[in-house]
Amino acid sequence: MSADRIESTEVTRERVLERIREDSHFVLAAHEGPDGDALGSLVGMQGLLSALGKDSQMFIAPEDLPLPYEYRFFTLDGLISSPPQDIAQRTVVFLDCGNIDRNSAGVLQQGRHLLNIDHHHDNTRFGTLDHVVPQASCTAEIVWDLMHGLGVGPTPLLARALYVGLITDTGRFMYENTGPRAHEMAAELISAGVDVQDVYRRLYEEMPAAKISLLALALGQIRRFDAGELTLAALSAEDFMRVGAEDSYSEGIIDHLRAIQGTKVAALVRELSGGATDDRARRKVSLRATDDDVDVSVIAREQGGGGHRRAAGFTTTLEVEPLIEFLRAALAAQLHAAGRSEIPFDLRSAPA
Ligand code: AMP
Ligand code: MN
Ligand code: MN
Repeated sequence: MSADRIESTEVTRERVLERIREDSHFVLAAHEGPDGDALGSLVGMQGLLSALGKDSQMFIAPEDLPLPYEYRFFTLDGLISSPPQDIAQRTVVFLDCGNIDRNSAGVLQQGRHLLNIDHHHDNTRFGTLDHVVPQASCTAEIVWDLMHGLGVGPTPLLARALYVGLITDTGRFMYENTGPRAHEMAAELISAGVDVQDVYRRLYEEMPAAKISLLALALGQIRRFDAGELTLAALSAEDFMRVGAEDSYSEGIIDHLRAIQGTKVAALVRELSGGATDDRARRKVSLRATDDDVDVSVIAREQGGGGHRRAAGFTTTLEVEPLIEFLRAALAAQLHAAGRSEIPFDLRSAPA
């Protein structure tokens, strides 16, 4: 749907509820390299549809399996890693997926209906029905809202899945997307049986030692530019190999970079293992802004990625140094755009 015809979320919510009530066969998918919100929304939606007696399958691409260790406790009943034969008869629900390229299985687009349920403000609205709620703290919050609309109560399994989406996307209730609604949702889910301490231990502790080693390597390589406004660390594939770390072990490192005083934008660059295209290494760049002075989603979009104002990302084949040059220029363009223009100077009227 074109941008000038975006319907209100009240309208799209009703249409999604109607679709879910009417249809009987579903496939659920989220973005590649799924995070806590992608997986929590996926498992939560699966629980919701199962409670309604629907036939639903969760698709996760083979390259995203096994899941990062911290998410392995998720119950993945109904998991498939290749698209189903009867895709044309199924309604496909994309969750937490800002654009269709963020899911590797193009064949999923052949579904009977494509429901696009997401909270990214820059969602490209690729669905046959788009329910995009940028005010939602996480996609799991939208699933929670749909759950109420469908008259389903949170089973312990569903509650835990949605809670994982909520705490990971709000940085444990500390990011700017944390509002009263996020805490109301938490209260309801905890009442439904979420074991807060258990979830916390699984997500943020019980960490493989190699993850701490990788963090140490990254902290030892911090670089700061332009009066410290850009704080960056770049991890090579060799760094990961040296400490025996998997790609997903870099999760959380960027929070330390953002925390350093004076930082406007934190960037973590990591070389992806086995990701070389025509011999060029691929790098994943994560960006975080500390306030509203810089919109990092604008920077990410310039490189074909996207995200939120304060958290965004992209993948690139740029080498580290040109990448740093790009980031510095992009940051300067947003911070000092006015200051960079030429200031008229007239020698005759200059003060003595
Ligand atoms: P990350 O740095 O991977 O934790 O991602 C931060 C935010 O940016 C999330 O909201 C992601 O959905 C978004 N994001 C990351 N990588 C991409 C990408 N390649 N394309 C679009 N959005 C992205
Ligand atoms: Mn996500
Ligand atoms: Mn999300």
